Amino acid sequence: MLNLIDLKEVIENAPVEEPERQFYFMDRVKELVAIKKQEGYAAHFMVEVMGCQMSAKDGEKLKGILERCGYTETLDDWDCDVLLFTTCTVRENANEKLYGRVGRLKHQYEKRRGMIIGITGCMMQEHDEVEGICKHYPYVKLMFGTHNIYKLAELLYKALITGKRTIEVLDDSKLIVENLPSERKYRFKGSVNISYGCNNFCTYCIVPYVRGREKSREATDILKECEQLVADGCLEITLLGQNVNSYGNDIPGSTSFPELLKAVAEIPGLKRLRFMTSNPKDLSDELIEVIRTHPNIARHIHLPMQSGSTAVLKRMNRHYTKESYLELVEKIRKTLPDVSLTTDIIVGFPGETEDDFQDTLDVVRLARFDSAYTFIYSKRHGTPAADFEQVPEDIVKERFDRLLSVVQETSRENEGSDIGKIMEVLVEEQDQNQTGHLTGRLSNNTLVHFEGPDSLIGTMQNVRLTESKGFYYFGELAG
Ligand code: SAH
Ligand code: SF4
Repeated sequence: MLNLIDLKEVIENAPVEEPERQFYFMDRVKELVAIKKQEGYAAHFMVEVMGCQMSAKDGEKLKGILERCGYTETLDDWDCDVLLFTTCTVRENANEKLYGRVGRLKHQYEKRRGMIIGITGCMMQEHDEVEGICKHYPYVKLMFGTHNIYKLAELLYKALITGKRTIEVLDDSKLIVENLPSERKYRFKGSVNISYGCNNFCTYCIVPYVRGREKSREATDILKECEQLVADGCLEITLLGQNVNSYGNDIPGSTSFPELLKAVAEIPGLKRLRFMTSNPKDLSDELIEVIRTHPNIARHIHLPMQSGSTAVLKRMNRHYTKESYLELVEKIRKTLPDVSLTTDIIVGFPGETEDDFQDTLDVVRLARFDSAYTFIYSKRHGTPAADFEQVPEDIVKERFDRLLSVVQETSRENEGSDIGKIMEVLVEEQDQNQTGHLTGRLSNNTLVHFEGPDSLIGTMQNVRLTESKGFYYFGELAG
């Protein structure tokens, strides 16, 4: 039956415009799946997310498309017909993790011939990685990049009909395809892309190469999506961009990020609004003011500092200094006293001296971060820093351990400061460690565990914080 389908004719009849073209292919895949089901095809899929919130959001889009194509989700990779990975390549260990996982799938593939294992995301934007997968993993049948995630149905259709490996990776694209299906992980919270790509070219970072130049979505499209989420019952929305502060710079006369944030915060019924990530170089007073005047904007700012040394920051191309970073922190803390500040720090950037590292420790102590993600510098092929003189591994490792203990020390100073208070919690799930207990989050992103019925999941509750356990609290429902 499949052989009777003329792929050429199907492609010729496809609409040229998006998203109509993709809906056309979703219908074609659905027809195919219906035929295959008569021959015993289960039409089960899995999407495995590796990486950041952008990658998770891509995963939701892939799931939405697969469901629209007639597939249903499974959690068992032995019982799976389409298994897709959204990959990360920001550090080398992300690549290694993917290779390990794909390597172990050989047995599943051999047991279930016809299974389509596909890889998309940042790693696929690197030619060497695509070549490596082609050479070592012949059973990977589908590969596409970050610029054509929206084309899953079209590519999957080709792979299903031809049975051949299908690869399509674009170097960059200006196209933003709106209104495709997307399947949220949680019904009560969702994320919304406000921009794609990045123009900053921090010298260690591969993101601008694999995600392309910055492209902002139209504010009206973003608002429409947010309003729809709230109408669907979402209490919390996270706005996503590599640097939300430069939102709109690529659209003449565009709404600015503070204006956009304000407009979204004022959607009736939206209880909590978050955003990621805010580059310290262009976080404006206007943004701080919008947060201050909108209690439903989360009291949490992730402000990646990367290094505390002005000299290193300069070589990283970050466009701020140790002093200006600390001034910004003080300004935020003064205007938003209940804010929690978190950060990213890279240890062992090429040329980092002991004095540079001491500056990083100094900023960690002065900024009193609530928590910090600490990374060992990872050399990324094609980035300027890959050609700088590298710091020996043993020195980096030793600095990393020292940094970790200072981070732990300083975040301990903030611990427990809210004990006794009654605070609003968005209840997210059952507590993994204690039956009859639930887990939720405060506005400042801290986790809280407390006793309560499952029916509260997906609602806002007042909880009295009774005990601090470092990174999380125990509490009790306060009615
Ligand atoms: N757009 C975000 C960061 C995205 S990458 C921002 O500018 O904040 C997330 C984090 O990974 C970065 O903040 C940085 O700390 C880390 N990172 C990026 N490239 C890295 C590399 N080559 N080695 C180690 N850590 C890196
Ligand atoms: Fe990478 Fe810098 Fe862009 Fe963040 S701002 S994605 S660290 S280049």
